[in-house]
Amino acid sequence: GTRQSVTVIGLGPMGQAMAGAFLERGYMVTVWNRTPGKADELVAKGAVRASTVNKALAANELVILSLTDYDVMYAILEPAAEQLSGKVFVNLSSDTPQKARQAAKWLAERGARHLTGGVQVPPSGIGKPESSTYYSGSREVFDAHRNTLEVITSTDYRGEDPGLAMLYYQIQMDIFWTSMLSYLHALAVANANGITAEQFLPYASATLSSLPGFVEFYTSRLDAGKHPGDVDRLAMGFASVEHVVHTTEDAGIDIALPAAVLKVFQRGMENGHAGDSFTSLIDIFKKTAV
Ligand code: NDP
Repeated sequence: GTRQSVTVIGLGPMGQAMAGAFLERGYMVTVWNRTPGKADELVAKGAVRASTVNKALAANELVILSLTDYDVMYAILEPAAEQLSGKVFVNLSSDTPQKARQAAKWLAERGARHLTGGVQVPPSGIGKPESSTYYSGSREVFDAHRNTLEVITSTDYRGEDPGLAMLYYQIQMDIFWTSMLSYLHALAVANANGITAEQFLPYASATLSSLPGFVEFYTSRLDAGKHPGDVDRLAMGFASVEHVVHTTEDAGIDIALPAAVLKVFQRGMENGHAGDSFTSLIDIFKKTAV
């Protein structure tokens, strides 16, 4: 049979890993990158270097984009606007749900189709079935290209709304960065007290590993909008976070992070939730958004 083929535009660490994975699986791969030298290793392994964006687009129906963000997509595709019709763009650049929705519309107006992808792993996870990527957009387009996309990672189709893949990506990043910064902050306090990262590791891991149990316990209560203070009370949480702030101060470490947490607890107290669970704080977040 004929070899399957794909174009990859954007050869940062991610795009290079993706193009490499396609080459390993026997695909014909056409690549383009603003800085052409980043294609050298891939060309040595059999990739075709397109000298222009137009040639990269002409080579294949399926075009993978791996760029810094969605603005870069416009910078690259606007000059080639008359060549977009009939193409399928799988955009694996990270950005906001809104940017993904706008891009899907912009491409549809030019006769092209768009799938949004949110890759959940670093370059080392590319080409591995245990890695996963969120996808959203047309189910038909996803199904048509699923086998090819599964060369990159396993796929997790989230729905027709082009914003959904980015939404799932960003709500995971919300948890990831806040949690990792809390780890760094706790380590700074530990270090100030002569405890190394190595010594802290089993304890930090134990606390992080306990979180799914809490999330599972509170899930049905959160969906029901019920925040009874039967197992935890906001007043207890407030006092607990206060102790963290004071321990931080005593260690001579910056209090900005736990002080921000304490402030959210305080607003919950001021709103009369001292006797409710800390989960009542979700209403503080929702009020801020209005
Ligand atoms: P890089 O920022 O290293 O690569 C970005 C690519 O965008 C390069 O090919 C770069 O070209 C190109 N680019 C940037 N600005 C322009 C421009 N104005 N015109 C043309 N091309 C431009 O990113 P990564 O490869 O690390 O990641 C790609 C995407 O994947 C990002 O959205 C990232 O958030 C996401 N991601 C990354 C992960 C990671 O661990 N790296 C993990 C999960 C997602 P040039 O080489 O010429 O600069």
